[in-house]
Amino acid sequence: MRVLVVPQGNDGWKEKRRLWEEIIASRPKPPYIYNDILVIVPSSRMKRAYGRMLLDIVQIKFGAAALVPPEIRTLHQHFERLYAPLQGPRLIDENSRIILLEGIVKGHLTSGHLFGQKPDLLAPALSAALAKMIEQLSAAGVSADELARRIMGEDFSDKPQVMLLIAVYRDYERELKYRNITDPAGMRMHLRAHVESGALAGYTRIILDGIHDAGKIETDILRKTAVRENCTCIVQATSAELITKASVFHPLSLTKDFLSQLGAAPDAGGDAPDVGERFLSSVLFSERAFETSTAEAPDPLSFSKDIRLLSTVNAREEVSLIASGVKQSLKQGALPDSVLVAFPGLDEYAPLVEEIFTDYGIPYNRALGRQLSSSPVAAAVVSLLRACQEDFSGPSLLRIFGSALLKFGETPELAPALDRFIRHSRITGGKHKLLSALRHHVPGKEGNDSICGPLEDLFDVLEPFSRKDTAPLSVWMDRFSHLMTWAGVGARVALIRGPLNINLQAFNKMQDTLTSLSQAGKLFPDYRYTFPEWFFLLKKTFMHTRYQVPPEDEGGVQILGLEESMGHSWSEIYLGGLNDGVFPQRIPQNIFLPEQLLEAMAVRTLEKARLNAAGHFYRLLLSADKITLTYPENEGDRPVVPSPFLEELTPLKQGGLINRGLGKTSGIQCSLKIEDSHSIPELAKAVSLVKSDQGLTDLLNSGIPGTAGIAAAIAYAPTASTQAVLPKQKRVFSVTELDLYLRCPYDYLVTQVLGLEPLEEATEDISPLDRGSKVHTILKNFYLAWRNPVTREGRVEARGLLRKLADAAFADDADTFRNRREKELFLTVMAERFLDGEEEFWKQGMNPAYLEQKIDHFPFVLSNGEEIELSAKIDRIDADQYGNFMIVDYKTGKYPLPKMSIEQDIFQLPLYAAMAQAALKESGPALTKPIGLVYYDLAGKTGGGARDVVLYNKEERDDHPSSKPKASSKSAEEFEAILKQSMSKARTAIERILAGDFSSIPLDENRCRYCPIDMMCKKEET
Ligand code: SF4
Repeated sequence: MRVLVVPQGNDGWKEKRRLWEEIIASRPKPPYIYNDILVIVPSSRMKRAYGRMLLDIVQIKFGAAALVPPEIRTLHQHFERLYAPLQGPRLIDENSRIILLEGIVKGHLTSGHLFGQKPDLLAPALSAALAKMIEQLSAAGVSADELARRIMGEDFSDKPQVMLLIAVYRDYERELKYRNITDPAGMRMHLRAHVESGALAGYTRIILDGIHDAGKIETDILRKTAVRENCTCIVQATSAELITKASVFHPLSLTKDFLSQLGAAPDAGGDAPDVGERFLSSVLFSERAFETSTAEAPDPLSFSKDIRLLSTVNAREEVSLIASGVKQSLKQGALPDSVLVAFPGLDEYAPLVEEIFTDYGIPYNRALGRQLSSSPVAAAVVSLLRACQEDFSGPSLLRIFGSALLKFGETPELAPALDRFIRHSRITGGKHKLLSALRHHVPGKEGNDSICGPLEDLFDVLEPFSRKDTAPLSVWMDRFSHLMTWAGVGARVALIRGPLNINLQAFNKMQDTLTSLSQAGKLFPDYRYTFPEWFFLLKKTFMHTRYQVPPEDEGGVQILGLEESMGHSWSEIYLGGLNDGVFPQRIPQNIFLPEQLLEAMAVRTLEKARLNAAGHFYRLLLSADKITLTYPENEGDRPVVPSPFLEELTPLKQGGLINRGLGKTSGIQCSLKIEDSHSIPELAKAVSLVKSDQGLTDLLNSGIPGTAGIAAAIAYAPTASTQAVLPKQKRVFSVTELDLYLRCPYDYLVTQVLGLEPLEEATEDISPLDRGSKVHTILKNFYLAWRNPVTREGRVEARGLLRKLADAAFADDADTFRNRREKELFLTVMAERFLDGEEEFWKQGMNPAYLEQKIDHFPFVLSNGEEIELSAKIDRIDADQYGNFMIVDYKTGKYPLPKMSIEQDIFQLPLYAAMAQAALKESGPALTKPIGLVYYDLAGKTGGGARDVVLYNKEERDDHPSSKPKASSKSAEEFEAILKQSMSKARTAIERILAGDFSSIPLDENRCRYCPIDMMCKKEET
């Protein structure tokens, strides 16, 4: 066997191509038949790359358009082909393997010997971990009996998880034998024992390409069948010496071990690498000290590689940076499919890459497939089952009714009707609550008639999934198949036409997956599932299944995972997302067996994963002349630790060999200068920030797609401000609305004039507003029923009355945690504080004279002599026998505090006082003179008692409880001035409203921080 060592990158690709040109040229006349040659490669993608390369060579060499190609197989396909004629046990797929293991695990957990309880909770997660462990053990050729023998006498051998592993593994082996089936590891064991050494004798030549590592059993099979005189093994390394001398921690040690197990040694020949290549390949993952390596660094002028290590403020900026680099290269003539953009965690990065590359107009091909679970089709069918799991919660139903891929997609008006119904009925979900509300609804109201039938239809079809029974997997799959037919997913997907119909690809893959699960159900009819178990299994299977979009077109910039980037030639490589924990991926500690034991049994999990990741890093750094490595500095609010592999670049940094000629290399962020824009969205952002569009006319009129929109936006002249929005005819103003206007005129415009309010989630919890109004009602009813002073002696009785009133007020609310807490808060905090305040208050010789007193039609004259009306509702007015009175306002939240000067934020209470004095002269107990203004701090926001007399005339009396005694106490003149001032503020507010002045200038800037309408308001610009 010959081991051909080719360098990574384009030189290696050229050498490989030279080899194939020789092979092709060996048959100079048609027919060009090469199917007597067998090629074994690690991935399907490499297999396709081979196909293209061979066709290319035949075309160039002989001008032929076709050939009978060599037989190219992936390693797994190769083993399957060798296995087929052996008549061994039937090979099962991954889904069947997991079903079998889950069934066995559940059986053990329910038997009560191990862990003792909760099989439903533990089985899916535990069986997945056990399946992985058993897969690793069997791949290393360690049987259950051998494992038991190896751990006998060890102090961990009687741990429940270890006993479970051995028991499950034994049962698993027994079941496979009993049913005459096998898994991939069993297939390989069978192959090793039974395959004939001459199984590949029919091939004149065998080539192993790109296989740098394989398990022990796989290597044994290859050695037995493929290692012959006519076999060539192509491995990538800068030199054979690097492989033979690789230490155990070096990524090339995997290749070294693999070759030695094959009984082969690398050829020492080949062209000598250049100085830079030699330095880079020897310095990465070297055992030498960094200083020693740096001392050997070549002169930067002779180092031909352009290596950059850049960090950006976050992942979005990182992808934008990569996109701008790629775009520049394409503009300079790079072929799109010679540019590689790779990420260790492609699943997380891919949506961002797709979005930004599309914005930049970069043609790309994203490989690695996508998780089926993330497809709209899978999400739609899962939403049906999730509704059952969530007992038909409002959001789950809205997802179903709003999905264009399900049955109700034909009637788009249903989702908004259901949304209105849920909000109007204040129902957050629940099959019985919804049905009962629908039964009692008023026909024709809220469009409920239209949703009644569809909801009942949905409940009926999902009834089999609401049962609490257990059923075999095949029964669940039949039920699901019926549900899919009802939902009409296939027909709706087919409505979207075109070869790149992503939903059709996902739907086809989903059908294959469901068929595989149905077959597994038929194979193992004894295992039964509850609905949550089966649903978990289905979601997990969708998560692990991938589908390809589009399946065949692989042109454009290549966005690949690390494995897939092997076996190609690249002109430029971008390797992003280099974060610690992702690269190398953090693998959780094995929960079953200690790592040392696994190592001793050749099950190398943690170390193998690290070496594999290091191998990709090493390979990619040597695979192109221009390499850009990037990582984001932050993920949300959290700073990110860069990959430890980047430390390997230290000698290059110290030798001045990376980031040459670059200014900023960290904290990089998209520039918003027009000249730096690389995409239409970036240009639009930049243009929106410049004051003048001078000099841009040519660009904007160039006809480049997207520029017309920017030009139109610049040309758009906002309409001149309109007349006052408020009709002049408005003649009645409530004190509360004037208070809102004074706090923020723009907020007043949106909520009071335009009547807009943010749409809130439908909830059964009472809102803060509801809570406040309940508290007001209880306290009013208290004094309607309680005619005597509140005293310490009567406290128990008063408390009892408050409890009774609270029971009645909160009785109609849903029994939710939050509602119970609100009532509890009232009884334990607010009621007690209120009674404390009242005990003191009654000692002052005053009494509550008016409760929830309305004042309507209060005449009010504006500066121009016009008369309008004010209205108010005052929580309570306390008065003494002389007619001295105080305005009281109950507060369950915060309230404005008094200030030392006359200028006050307290607006409503002084105005109430002035209005009450004038309006209530003759309607009840006499109110001669206002002497104080009171807030009841029921929730304890200020740290004082409940009764807080925030402003009072100290010349009348000064024994009031107050949280700010100095600021609250005012002279008679000051107090009078404050009342007058509030009248004048009210006048100004009304005049400004009538003039249509709704500026976004709030009284307190802090209000904007929590303002729900800040998106609509032009606060930033004013
Ligand atoms: S963001 Fe500020 S200015 Fe704008 S409406 Fe809200 S509170 Fe008023």
